[in-house]
Amino acid sequence: MGAGYSYPRLVPSVMLPFMQALPAFVAVDWNGTVVSFFGEPAYSGALEVLEGWSQKGILICVVSHAYPSTIQRDVERVGLNAHEIHGVEDKEAALIELRLRQGTGLYLGDHPADYRAALAAELPFYQSCLEGQGAFPGRDGGFNDWRELPDLLGY
Ligand SMILES: [Mg+2]
Repeated sequence: MGAGYSYPRLVPSVMLPFMQALPAFVAVDWNGTVVSFFGEPAYSGALEVLEGWSQKGILICVVSHAYPSTIQRDVERVGLNAHEIHGVEDKEAALIELRLRQGTGLYLGDHPADYRAALAAELPFYQSCLEGQGAFPGRDGGFNDWRELPDLLGY
């Protein structure tokens, strides 16, 4: 290919900042974030919002403090098409590994330990307040309904 060749512009340059703002992955805690507890239905809007992100090319990764088989079964039960499912003892290590492997992301969780793990992995943290939890100081944001998230995050 000659030095003077220029690739056709497929994306208007004005769109690039928005496209670059998409994270590589969204990691979600499970109990208290996607469902109230194992065996319970997904919170309203959760599956639709996660599926919407997935269609934009964002990897959906469940990171739950659970036995791998337990969380795997429950994710399948609710019908979420997650790209990765991690049932772990140590969320912090799992989030650091994801961040190193996949790049930019964020974590959605409901527990102070979730926030600490996100901080350790240098991931933005958005707090699920679906059971009426008060705001954690320092969090990047919070939501009382999954359907608030696309506007809150901008994607
Ligand atoms: Mg939780």
